[in-house]
Amino acid sequence: MTHRREFLNDVARMAAGVALGAAGASRVRGAERKAMPRDGLTAVIPMPLQVVIDDVGWWSGEDGSERQEPYRTGIDRRHVPADYHAIVELGRALGIRPQAATVLCEWDKENILRTLPESTWMGAEWDNRRWVGPWLEEAADIIRRNQAHYELTIHGLGHEHWTNGRYTRAEWADESGTMRPREQVEAHLDAFEAILAQHRLGGLPRSFVPTAFRHRFGPTDGHAVSMAEVLGSRGVTYINTPFASMANADAVQHGVFGFDAGVMTVDRGDDLLDWDVIGQVPGGPLNGPTCGLHWPNLLHPDPERNPEIVAGWVALLAPYDDRADTMLASDSVLFQHQLAHHVCTRVARSADAIDLDFRETVRLPGPVGEGGLTLKVRSASALGFSSDTVEIATSASRRAGDEVLHTLRLERRPGLERARVRFAPTPG
Ligand SMILES: [Zn+2]
Repeated sequence: MTHRREFLNDVARMAAGVALGAAGASRVRGAERKAMPRDGLTAVIPMPLQVVIDDVGWWSGEDGSERQEPYRTGIDRRHVPADYHAIVELGRALGIRPQAATVLCEWDKENILRTLPESTWMGAEWDNRRWVGPWLEEAADIIRRNQAHYELTIHGLGHEHWTNGRYTRAEWADESGTMRPREQVEAHLDAFEAILAQHRLGGLPRSFVPTAFRHRFGPTDGHAVSMAEVLGSRGVTYINTPFASMANADAVQHGVFGFDAGVMTVDRGDDLLDWDVIGQVPGGPLNGPTCGLHWPNLLHPDPERNPEIVAGWVALLAPYDDRADTMLASDSVLFQHQLAHHVCTRVARSADAIDLDFRETVRLPGPVGEGGLTLKVRSASALGFSSDTVEIATSASRRAGDEVLHTLRLERRPGLERARVRFAPTPG
């Protein structure tokens, strides 16, 4: 499990006073205390957390896998617009933009998928009339009106790959992670975009989650280009998938993330809940930068009670924004930049300054890492900050027990590979 090893490394680095990982809270606190200098000041580039919700988009909840239909979401009710509202409410409550990794075949009101027989269980006889109704426009309206708290991410059309009415896993790659024929992949991306257009839901998204997590890092047998390169040529900049089930994961360059043909690929790690768990308030520690879940995990069997489950996720996630070593990313673009800085930007402190070293970060394929970063500083008393080499866009502080936690939003100056943030006690 690559990511677990990575977090142990993070703990080791943290003990050296450089960076913090998000390992078990007690271990983090113990190591931190040991590293705390005598004046009690530590500076950290916190690990960002991004929420990724799979299998959004089904209208039927039925697990059809026994009869060669998709697994879908595996619940005993159909999906309703309130299930989309749950995603928005999670985003609004936390000030984040959850990714809804979306499956679109049951949104196809023109039956265009007849021309892609491998994309659904009905093949060339594809007929989606059952799921064409007013709920489509209601859900589309929720998505369109709440863009600040809802990111539509590519997941797939039918999720699996059908041949003569029988499926294999999965839509974009086979069991070993080998990409499906390129012309099929391109046609599925075209169809994804066309179904979004049927509902005025914008162009092709810039993020991707492979269905059934069947994916390979880098090109696969028989293909000159990787899945990431195909996606990248259409504007996708970021893929999220668990590295434990990704082929060629050893080639990942930076532990929890790597670049495949310039497309940032981030480890999802382990989900807290199984894919079909519904109506259960989540618990337990997150184990990496992605908080991965499946749509039912956010919902209740009675859609009117969805808010109870959403509240459970809010209670679980909000404390990660208060900790010194983690933060909630406000969207997936900021997530990519912050994760790059968390892993690659070095932090050191002297008597009156915090030094940032971007030399490793600037070597990443642009634009990742060119963007700003969040720095958190813990100290015994309130501090003021100034800098000639980086712009301090915002600075906030709050008292937490017998120390003060400062959160600084920094914007890099182009071309500078190092920056210094000076600190001094504030009067009073
Ligand atoms: Zn899925």
